[in-house]
Amino acid sequence: MKLLEEKIKKDGRVINDNVLKVDSFLNHQIDPQLMNEIGKEFASSFAAEGITKIVTIESSGIAPAVMAGLYMNVPVIFARKRKSITLTDDLLTASVHSFTKNETNELAIAGKYLNENDKVLIIDDFLANGEAALALVKMVKQANASVAGIGIVIEKSFQPGAHKLKEQGLRVESLARIASLSNGEVTFITEKME
Ligand code: 5GP
Repeated sequence: MKLLEEKIKKDGRVINDNVLKVDSFLNHQIDPQLMNEIGKEFASSFAAEGITKIVTIESSGIAPAVMAGLYMNVPVIFARKRKSITLTDDLLTASVHSFTKNETNELAIAGKYLNENDKVLIIDDFLANGEAALALVKMVKQANASVAGIGIVIEKSFQPGAHKLKEQGLRVESLARIASLSNGEVTFITEKME
């Protein structure tokens, strides 16, 4: 997605060879116009899949997921990271380790929001090692719902996540695919490289 790549080039900050900071438009301050375009793009990519629900993780997945939900006209569920006192019975759960924050979180979704008839689109902000996406897949499966695909805003293609998910037969659509963050520079995957 050209608009997103331009935004990453202009406003993204390469922290090191593995981490990209996009706090000015996705992870802290949010650019609603860009989120709108992202939502439209996900909706058109997955239009043929008969999606009934979108599942994401708080907090950075919520903005792109809500915009996709608006265009697809389906509800958006975000997995909560901490146990909530209002989130009690019939939970779908998984734990996820974040390499960027070096912490493990327990994720939970109330079982009543997903059922065996649901076709779920999973959306997240970044795909790195695939831990977060796989935890969401696990929770969707606990509900006996099916995963129709995974929509990622920024895929770091030099890390193993995309490969791991595709290996499981999952359809992954990433709007920006980064080949490398070496030398403080963002290099995207071009069609020529594939
Ligand atoms: P994974 O579970 O695929 O290893 O990592 C996905 C999660 O880690 C994303 O939800 C995102 O919050 C975080 N993450 C991974 N890599 C990056 C990165 O380069 N920059 C930012 N801002 N977050 C990242």
